[in-house]
Amino acid sequence: MPANILNLPCYKVLGIQENEHDYHIEVETTEVPAACPHCQSSSLVGFGRREQMVKDLPRHGRRVGLYIDTRRYQCRGCGKTFYEALPEMDEKRLMTKRLAQWMGKQAIKRTFSSIAEEVGCTEFTVRAVFNDYVSDLKKTIRFETPKWMGIDEIHLIKPRGVIANIQNNTIVELLPNRNKDTVVRFLHYLDGKDRIQYVAMDMWTPYRDAVRAVIPQAEIVVDKFHVVRMANDAMERVRKSLRESLTPKQRRGLMHDRFVLLKRERDLNDKERLNLEGWTKNYPELGEAYRLKEQFFGIYDAESPDEAQAKFIQWQNSIPSEITDAFADIERAWGNWTMPILNYFNHPVTNAYTESLNSLIRVMNRLGRGYSFEALRAKILFAEGVHKHKLSRPKFERKERRQAEPEPVMMYGLPGNFKNFEMGDSFARMAPKPAPEPKPYIQKSTESEKQEKNYGADISTLIRMIENGEL
Ligand SMILES: [Zn+2]
Repeated sequence: MPANILNLPCYKVLGIQENEHDYHIEVETTEVPAACPHCQSSSLVGFGRREQMVKDLPRHGRRVGLYIDTRRYQCRGCGKTFYEALPEMDEKRLMTKRLAQWMGKQAIKRTFSSIAEEVGCTEFTVRAVFNDYVSDLKKTIRFETPKWMGIDEIHLIKPRGVIANIQNNTIVELLPNRNKDTVVRFLHYLDGKDRIQYVAMDMWTPYRDAVRAVIPQAEIVVDKFHVVRMANDAMERVRKSLRESLTPKQRRGLMHDRFVLLKRERDLNDKERLNLEGWTKNYPELGEAYRLKEQFFGIYDAESPDEAQAKFIQWQNSIPSEITDAFADIERAWGNWTMPILNYFNHPVTNAYTESLNSLIRVMNRLGRGYSFEALRAKILFAEGVHKHKLSRPKFERKERRQAEPEPVMMYGLPGNFKNFEMGDSFARMAPKPAPEPKPYIQKSTESEKQEKNYGADISTLIRMIENGEL
């Protein structure tokens, strides 16, 4: 039987039993302890054994149990007894470290129950391993704080806050809810929060209050998308109120043509234009609502905040009293959010961000069944291959022109003083300091070794992974 079947060099395989479902592998450690853990004496004698069972990576579709024949020793120096330490084992649970690592990674992509079944443990254990794995990830992975931050809403079981990096089109955090306290806490503990210059958001007051409280230097911008869709909603309200005065047949026709009403006038084809004229001529209120919708979109053609505000006032004054109720929400929103809405005209949010976030929101409902929020958050933020990296390095600069230099000396083989070096020994421990190196041909610049930056979970990668069922 191959001793290395486990690929764990510190264990020797003593025997294997297998059946349809499981491997039972008996092992012992290959190294004896060098010293007593209590007094460091090296005078040790055997003092019995006991078998410990731990789980390991499943293989060939079978669950794997390792039965470790653990040795107990007595120290001649202090008389105390102890069990040998077991390398490669998880500190908290009866499983190998590599199993815990694998379970954590798998739990980001799969349901806890399927992993529990494959490994042969309880779902409770999978959840515990997963929580540890995610909290380790949180400690090691740090996303760059966005200069342009987006705070939006995403539905995962219920509405959640989503924090984005707009310039890089990535997600950097998911918050369990949209409360002010939650956002305040997030922003408060964020490294580099002073560098946030702009925060784009939908018109949700708790977000605005949180940003003003913690990062008052940041300018709040309301994305065009969130404002103009209110004009569509207003027009829909007028259409629906008209419905009651129609015959069932007309009603169906209007239902059918609502897409024409929602389209921008400039995008209509001849047939649609004719259709629209039919409705707006026969129902002047609907015609007025359509005109107001179009003119409201037109405000966004303005080239400055002042021009936009003037256009808005003009627009507001043109609302006929019969349909003023339908447009009351827009007037209220504009009144409450005037500055953030107008900030957009100086600092527009990129369409790419708005569009990709909306696509993500659309595919998000394919996630969700059978996962807790924590699991979904980890899937989105930490799935393998989802991160957008960039090397932070200085601009390329042409190297200095070489003077006529002698050819660099190439080194063949090891320098003489490497000869006493035994193959089994750790290279790091044994290797003597090498002689001063000849000037290498390829010069490494310390500048280029700067840390890679991680911008968070790339939204388009997330969409692709969700669509392919990879998340
Ligand atoms: Zn001792």
